[in-house]
Amino acid sequence: MENWDVIIIGAGSAGLAAGIYAVRSGLKSLILEDKLAGGTISDAPVVVNYPGFAEISGGELAEKMTLHCRKLGAVIHDLENVTSMNLTGETKTVTTSRTTYEAKAVIICTGSHYKEIGVKGEKEFRGRGVSYCGVCDGPFFKGKRVLIIGGGNTAATAIIYLSGIAAEVVVVHRKSGFRAEESLVTGIASKQNVKILWNTEVQEIKGDKQVKAVTLIDNTTKNTSELAVDAVFVQIGEAPNSELAKASGVETDEHGHIKIDIRQQTNLSGVFAAGDVTDYPVKQVGTAVGQGITAALEAHSYIRRPYYRK
Ligand SMILES: Cc1cc2nc3c(=O)[nH]c(=O)nc-3n(C[C@H](O)[C@H](O)[C@H](O)COP(=O)(O)OP(=O)(O)OC[C@H]3O[C@@H](n4cnc5c(N)ncnc54)[C@H](O)[C@@H]3O)c2cc1C
Repeated sequence: MENWDVIIIGAGSAGLAAGIYAVRSGLKSLILEDKLAGGTISDAPVVVNYPGFAEISGGELAEKMTLHCRKLGAVIHDLENVTSMNLTGETKTVTTSRTTYEAKAVIICTGSHYKEIGVKGEKEFRGRGVSYCGVCDGPFFKGKRVLIIGGGNTAATAIIYLSGIAAEVVVVHRKSGFRAEESLVTGIASKQNVKILWNTEVQEIKGDKQVKAVTLIDNTTKNTSELAVDAVFVQIGEAPNSELAKASGVETDEHGHIKIDIRQQTNLSGVFAAGDVTDYPVKQVGTAVGQGITAALEAHSYIRRPYYRK
């Protein structure tokens, strides 16, 4: 069985920053990634708020982080999904789609995923008109009629963005008002091509090869209607990828975010977490990087300085 000082799960902003600091601290470090290294920021067409880069595409930023991490000596295994972990003993084991590894410490950086609405047609048309990322997929629907589901910050951002691309944006929200930031709500009010259907939900997404229509239900009158649309953007927020951690005894809050202390420690000794999967309130590249750095340096202290342990 391969032995590592630290295994980092997830090669997004948090995992790559953790990798950089772990190898620089002299730890033998392995990063396991179920897709390709880079993480969620790869989906962002443009990033304008990461210090040092006035404007950079998310893909380029992710690539730069990945190259930096590899150059310093971190081993990154792409396309290797972690399927289970045993985290309670002094030696941790991490099992993947390929093999089982041993490590002295584990840093969980598994990020989050878009929430689904769970209606008929949603899975079937995913990638064929059903999207969870307005900024990623919006340009495919230039001049079309698109539907956006949701009423929070994620939805409000997508409404403003897509109103500049699509011919018409229809918004469906199950409540009678937005719960987004005031500046976003004001921004939506000035858009001529945005129509909002309050107290309304999508019952079904229909089409053939692509999305063609949705069935809507007014949740006050219970009347149903059909609306022709070219795309459905489900924008109801994100949920943490913490099932694996939970199944291994890591404590989470009521929303499934991993509970961490100021040193990024979880409830389990030698197990740290960083980035969007944690209960830290801000979900940005800068905060994920900062958390990843702290987690790696604290993992180093945990491994090299026995008095550090709880
Ligand atoms: C469209 C969009 C635009 C954004 N724009 C900005 C912006 O402009 N500025 C900004 O600061 N932030 C932005 N963000 C937020 C930013 O992308 C996240 O806060 C950041 O990527 C979080 O990093 P992370 O490492 O915690 O998670 P992620 O980047 O999501 O990385 C987690 C990684 O873990 C992997 N993983 C999950 N489970 C497993 C498993 N079982 N085994 C192996 N690997 C696993 C995933 O494949 C993923 O690569 C944006 C987000 C989106 C969706």
